[in-house]
Amino acid sequence: MKYNIPRGTFDILPQDSYKWQFVMDSFRKIASRFGYEEISTPIFETAELFERSSGESSDVVQKEMYRFTDRKERIFALRPEGTAPVVRSYVENHMDVLSSRTKLYYIGPMFRYDRPQAGRYRQFYQYGIEFIGSDNPYYDAEVIAIEMLWLQELGLKNLRLEINSVGCPTCAADYDAALREFFRPALQDLCPDCVKRFDLKPRRLLDCKVASCKPFRVGAPSQLDYLDAPCTEHFAKVCESLTAMDISYIINPAIVRGLDYYTNTAFEVIYEGLGAQNSLAGGGRYNGLIEQIGGKSIPAIGFAGGFERLLLALEKEQIELGKRICPDAYLICLGEKARVAIYTYLNHLRQKGLYIEYDPDKSSLKAQFKAADTSGASYAIIVGDSELEAKTVNLKNLVTGEQVSLPLDGGEAVYAILHQDH
Ligand code: AMP
Repeated sequence: MKYNIPRGTFDILPQDSYKWQFVMDSFRKIASRFGYEEISTPIFETAELFERSSGESSDVVQKEMYRFTDRKERIFALRPEGTAPVVRSYVENHMDVLSSRTKLYYIGPMFRYDRPQAGRYRQFYQYGIEFIGSDNPYYDAEVIAIEMLWLQELGLKNLRLEINSVGCPTCAADYDAALREFFRPALQDLCPDCVKRFDLKPRRLLDCKVASCKPFRVGAPSQLDYLDAPCTEHFAKVCESLTAMDISYIINPAIVRGLDYYTNTAFEVIYEGLGAQNSLAGGGRYNGLIEQIGGKSIPAIGFAGGFERLLLALEKEQIELGKRICPDAYLICLGEKARVAIYTYLNHLRQKGLYIEYDPDKSSLKAQFKAADTSGASYAIIVGDSELEAKTVNLKNLVTGEQVSLPLDGGEAVYAILHQDH
């Protein structure tokens, strides 16, 4: 019986895993530089956590969530996103008592049942930042700055930051009313999902992917015209802070974000050249979420980005993402006596922290040199019975062909040369 990988998922194979490690390490570094600490939550949570936070009418909950019932009939979901679990943990662990400012980041797989295509998978890996504890527009700009600085440091060009404000629940209600007025005449021509959205969340009409719905939103009212005075001021300050931080952006009133919990700032980072799935990261402020899932009323802002699309973009720009690890040296052993005696020497080299490859199943000089070449090692250490008697080893530089004889000591002589090369 042969088994295939589930549709919309992928293996990270050894020839690629170093690239993933590189971008993940790099994200950890930038997050730490801004004072963020890592949090890891389970990949499944009570389904209701997502239903309440993302909104019953969101696509993620309606169509994309992997829901399952366990043996005790409890309903869980594979997490479709990272913010609700982080907030659940924040509330459950009383993090607000520990500090008035909480800076958390996460990395991990998310799950959405969506139609797979380039840059869209059913299991995908996200990185995310959550800043909890202040409504100050400075933090909106700082959170955006982390993402932009990181992507620029990785070497990406052609990035576009788009921002919007979706206001607070009061301005959102006025805006929803205006949208219903606007879309009412077209109601019979919209897709069935949009008809539902019309009643539940008219803002989602702006985000519909169905081609026949798109023309109807031309000329739709803009959320920015329906912001109350505090929300208008908040958004103006976010824009002002971004400009002061030398971060370019465009205002796109069509950014609504898929999930219900967003308030005020919403943003997306677009990389042109990835086709339909060109959003690298997105996020926004979610001032009501903590209270909504059982905590105090504490403002917060965050974002999430996808590693798959990031890797596609980096590959497109031919940016090198670290290197596959190669041995420091390949140990070549000739002769029966040497074969046993060499284990002690091999052990000494490894205890010094060197990565040494050795294959006891290969006996000919030719086979061992071939294996040394394939391994990518820069050096071969050659020991035969005569070297063993003379208490020496030969160290050959596989790049220059140069060879030196060194003492068969506790590994110090070889280590000194290999270490210099590091
Ligand atoms: P979202 O949580 O929908 O705001 O998405 C944030 C980021 O996660 C997007 O900008 C993508 O980079 C990534 N992402 C979202 N959904 C998928 C998916 N199905 N496959 C791959 N990446 C995804």
